Amino acid sequence: MRTHTRVAVIGGGVVGASVLYHLTKAGWHDVLLIERAELTSGSTWHAAGGMHTVNGDPNVAKLQQYTIKLYEEIERISGVSCGVHVTGGIMLAGTPERMDWLKMAQARGRYLGMELELLSAAEAKKIYPLMDTRHFVGAMYDPIEGHVDPYGVTHAYAKSAQLAGAEVSRQTRVIDMHARPDGSWDLTTTGGNVHAEHVVNAGGLWAREVGRMVGLELPVLAMEHQYLITEDLPEFTGQKEQIHCIDFEGEIYMRQERGGMLLGTYERAGVPWSPRTTPWDFGQDLLANDLERIAPSLEVGFEHFPRLASAGIKKVVNGPFTFAPDGNPLVGPVRGLRNYWVACGVMAGFSQGGGVGLALAHWMVDGDPGADIWGMDVARYGDWATLAYTNAKVRENYSRRFRIRFPNEELDAARPLRTTPIYERLQAQNAVFGEYCGLEHPLWFAPKGVAPREDVTFRRSNAHATVAEECRAVREAVGLLEISNYGKFEVTGPAAAEWLSFIMANRVPSVGRISLAPMLNERGRLIGDFTLCRAAEERFFLIGTYAAERYYLRWFERHLPPAGVSVRACASEYVGLSVAGPRSRELLQSLVDADLATAAFPFMSFRRLDVGMVPAFVGRVSFTGDLGYEIWVTSDYQRALYDLLTGAGKNLGLRHFGGRALNAMRLEKSFGTWAREFRPIYGPFEAGLGRFIDLRKPSFVGREAAAAEQAHGGDRRLITLDVRARDADAIGDEPIWHAGRVVGWVTSGGYGHSVQKSLALGYVEREVAGESAGFEVELIGERCPAVRLAEAAFDPDGTRMRA
Ligand SMILES: Cc1cc2nc3c(=O)[nH]c(=O)nc-3n(C[C@H](O)[C@H](O)[C@H](O)COP(=O)(O)OP(=O)(O)OC[C@H]3O[C@@H](n4cnc5c(N)ncnc54)[C@H](O)[C@@H]3O)c2cc1C
Repeated sequence: MRTHTRVAVIGGGVVGASVLYHLTKAGWHDVLLIERAELTSGSTWHAAGGMHTVNGDPNVAKLQQYTIKLYEEIERISGVSCGVHVTGGIMLAGTPERMDWLKMAQARGRYLGMELELLSAAEAKKIYPLMDTRHFVGAMYDPIEGHVDPYGVTHAYAKSAQLAGAEVSRQTRVIDMHARPDGSWDLTTTGGNVHAEHVVNAGGLWAREVGRMVGLELPVLAMEHQYLITEDLPEFTGQKEQIHCIDFEGEIYMRQERGGMLLGTYERAGVPWSPRTTPWDFGQDLLANDLERIAPSLEVGFEHFPRLASAGIKKVVNGPFTFAPDGNPLVGPVRGLRNYWVACGVMAGFSQGGGVGLALAHWMVDGDPGADIWGMDVARYGDWATLAYTNAKVRENYSRRFRIRFPNEELDAARPLRTTPIYERLQAQNAVFGEYCGLEHPLWFAPKGVAPREDVTFRRSNAHATVAEECRAVREAVGLLEISNYGKFEVTGPAAAEWLSFIMANRVPSVGRISLAPMLNERGRLIGDFTLCRAAEERFFLIGTYAAERYYLRWFERHLPPAGVSVRACASEYVGLSVAGPRSRELLQSLVDADLATAAFPFMSFRRLDVGMVPAFVGRVSFTGDLGYEIWVTSDYQRALYDLLTGAGKNLGLRHFGGRALNAMRLEKSFGTWAREFRPIYGPFEAGLGRFIDLRKPSFVGREAAAAEQAHGGDRRLITLDVRARDADAIGDEPIWHAGRVVGWVTSGGYGHSVQKSLALGYVEREVAGESAGFEVELIGERCPAVRLAEAAFDPDGTRMRA
């Protein structure tokens, strides 16, 4: 084994092998894969090898498409067969809600270039004779589904990489590693020491252990997973291979395996495997079968596919594989550990392994993953994702693998975990809570005497009428909103202003002022969107998306100068309340001595003020687009602040409102938000943020690319549509049609109660962005006519927020 390498990839499962191959493909040839035993010795060897393109996140779906297309390439290069069977696949719907879900998945597939076809149950039966149509209402067919040979795929990746100069060291276990001051790593292995410039943790079942070598606790957990293979079915002899099948209500997946059927299930009572530590002596072992556990799914399966009830069981496989709390992979550089990268928690290695390898290799070689992989970024988890949290969420996610996640559905596991000091007070107001980064926050407030619960649905829920009242209170009087669920950073030091000017695309505000600050990467794409508040000459607060806290810190720390600036996250330290609406000034004025009149405290001001006895930072901004204030206090003051505001608001018509109403009101203002309208696939001019890009500044990250985008005009435009919807509003990812052609997709949508319009924000091709009529948004299988709004639906001139 070489003693020095540019990259040491730890783990020779399908993921590590893919990373190795993609590194060579991206131009790094001095790379080494270190495998404890033989290749595939973790979860890879006993996988069912199924692959599919459908994924709830369109960006992940694209990487899945890439993975499936890749097999031909690595077979050609390596000469090793991947055992690819593209049989096509069918997803069966047993309920009208599942059929709605399929319609939405099919619609999403339109702009992803997928050819998904909706079928009636009778049509489905023609291509999948095993099913009993009585249990199904319809189906969706995907021609690009199938299965591969896990062993072949892993070896094809490894061989392709080896042919390009990579080394694979088998029977070698990495025991420990230490960082050198220059950020490179010394690895101690059973085969000698290796010095590596970069390390990739692709440890799969042992990813946690490989993380712990450097003090990192990764949120991954393995679950036991069982599938069985039936005896051969004589009627298959001489027939074309059966297509893949997912029966959502039965919670089973199936495919043909030689002459029999392979049937696997994600049972509700799933069992974690090695919840704390994975034993190093676990080899190519299988776990003891527990057919009892999967019996409920099998019973349904035998009812839905009667022929299988009489087929004997030839073999049962029970093996572990890992999941992150949300079921998506953990990929990317780890904040605070230079040159330490992860590619783990990949639960669908044969659909996603290629895309994960591609993105990580580009990230390492070019400094950017080259695709929008926010949904897979390891930085999406913070300290709250402890071992026990991960355990609760992974079990929940596993048990729900084939269940519908409705857009308004909040899941129960690991809750409540984090609460703010006013949690009980909000509970007393009948708040319906949502969970975000482990933190409880109010979504809406159910009427008195009504259970604080929201019905899950793709359509308008029982919250609709109450949210309308919350919006009305804000638009007509004053509303109170808890805003603690934002990410916050304090930036201080003599070089803070200069650094912020370099890292943010907008100009840095003067003391006491706020600016809206998009953050770009070198490619000029949007990687952040902040409210930048200047408290003093050398003290700033940045307010942005909480879920991206580590993502931002990782970026900030990469760009910090050696001295003169310090950045710290302070999300839990500062909690917040916002008051918004035409009477919000009157309310706040009754509690502060300072003059809040616009002349003295105009829109976009930021100041240290005492609210009653409470020391606070107050910003005159509101995401509602109305007159409003954001009030930030350290958490020990939040209860006192809440009591003051609710007390003073009694006579002013103060009403609590939550995240649902806030979302409705920001849509009325066409305000975009991170991870929806603003993502690394969009440029600031495409996103309509051009006025916040200060190209007069001589230098900032992404400046040249942003200038080029401005000159070129970008490929797309963010537009607002007024959709003629009936009882369901857009939620995001629906296709936008124009003149009979798909020209874009929705990023978010909802009902604008103050304007009584169903609204959708979305990106369309620049060429059609100027049209006003002729648009359609596909909502649950129905193409609803839509009109582009030339300006925000509510108060387009912004007079109310500036009043
Ligand atoms: C029963 C079952 C059915 C499945 N069916 C499917 C399916 O149909 N489709 C699909 O896409 N996925 C399926 N999967 C999931 C799939 O197996 C995983 O997504 C995939 O194996 C993950 O690969 P990996 O490389 O991340 O991890 P692993 O396969 O666990 O590989 C990690 C490797 O790292 C090595 N390693 C760890 N630590 C060290 C160290 N310190 N030093 C050296 N080497 C080390 C291990 O020996 C191991 O070989 C299934 C899994 C199971 C268990």
